[in-house]
Amino acid sequence: QKPSVLVLGMAGSGKTTFVQRLTAFLHARKTPPYVINLDPAVTKVPYPVNVDIRDTVKYKEVMKEFGMGPNGAIMTCLNLMCTRFDKVIELINKRSDDFSVCLLDTPGQIEAFTWSASGSIITDSLASSHPTVVMYIVDSARATNPTTFMSNMLYACSILYRTKLPFIVVFNKSDIVKPTFALKWMQDFERFDEALEDTRSSYMNDLSRSLSLVLDEFYCGLKTVCVSSVTGEGFDDVMTAIAESVEAYKKEYVPMYEKVL
Ligand code: GDP
Ligand code: MG
Repeated sequence: QKPSVLVLGMAGSGKTTFVQRLTAFLHARKTPPYVINLDPAVTKVPYPVNVDIRDTVKYKEVMKEFGMGPNGAIMTCLNLMCTRFDKVIELINKRSDDFSVCLLDTPGQIEAFTWSASGSIITDSLASSHPTVVMYIVDSARATNPTTFMSNMLYACSILYRTKLPFIVVFNKSDIVKPTFALKWMQDFERFDEALEDTRSSYMNDLSRSLSLVLDEFYCGLKTVCVSSVTGEGFDDVMTAIAESVEAYKKEYVPMYEKVL
């Protein structure tokens, strides 16, 4: 069985561009991926796709038929997809000789997937069928603001503890800013503290300072990679991180569930 990689991240962090780049990278290596698009509202998918949610549910029609706004329609499409997801898992498993890794692109708005029952069901059905890892995409250019960085990491933390899956933080857009600042902040909270001093709001600073102490433990167990989905920089490291995470899945995730069952 081949691993699945669930690509999550804030709107505009570069999930779709990341999947596009990784797909091209794997094709060039003659180890093509199996690619699944779970974003019903995207107008154009810029990579060859094997399973597309847009073939199953029509976002515009869901809006019309149920009189919904954009967010409600995205949730409804995911719910409908979720009811058929056993078929998708079947497909993935049947084709697993033909691909190296299964990539899943998710809706632009992160909460559509991470705060919905259908997102949890999809994640759990993948993880109970074969090795599954989460790649959390961060927009490095926006994360240079320490409070933005902190909110992003809190979100990452909540997803890690909800899914309990091996977790890789991907600092994307390294062509705009080198994400070394973020790695330093994660290694040493005093460096983060120094960066906070330069910003205005003292309430936000106090909160962020306290949170950075709490998150210290969360950072220790994290894998990080720095990439540019535009230039292709860092994708060898992505493959190494996935391979290590698959080992972590076998060592930690599987025994954890065997205990529950
Ligand atoms: P998504 O909403 O997370 O799927 O984000 P998209 O993949 O649609 O990307 C959002 C915007 O960020 C687009 O304009 C991309 O061209 C841009 N983008 C994504 N990755 C990178 C990157 O590595 N470098 C730069 N400079 N721009 C990027
Ligand atoms: Mg997208």
